[in-house]
Amino acid sequence: MKIIGIGLIALAVIWGISAINMNTSIITESRTVGEGIYSTYVPSQTIHNLSLADHRRNHLIGAGISLLAGILLFGFGSLQPNGGMQGRTCPFCAETIKEEAKICRYCNKDLPELKRASHSQQSGILSWFSNYAKRTR
Ligand SMILES: [Zn+2]
Repeated sequence: MKIIGIGLIALAVIWGISAINMNTSIITESRTVGEGIYSTYVPSQTIHNLSLADHRRNHLIGAGISLLAGILLFGFGSLQPNGGMQGRTCPFCAETIKEEAKICRYCNKDLPELKRASHSQQSGILSWFSNYAKRTR
């Protein structure tokens, strides 16, 4: 989820930069208007093209939306390890409380000290995951 967020942010930045650099003007050809001595030379001009500007605006909006989505995914992705994985169940009221809690916030009962040994009892992939979660906190 976090990776997708980073990818979306990178895409949005590239998209936004290329949209800003989009050329929204067109160059007209030089021409001569009128006949004989009344003819006027009209030089080539660079004029602003509204439909190209519209196009660029659409690209900028798209880049902005994907940037927002990326930031949201990145933010929620980094919150998940702390919010979702941690916590334990109160032995008295069965509500989910913080691992470090000494008093239950729901039933106000004193909780037994968390046994650190319980972590080392986990074996294999489970202990690897819990160590990984601690390191990345
Ligand atoms: Zn409780």
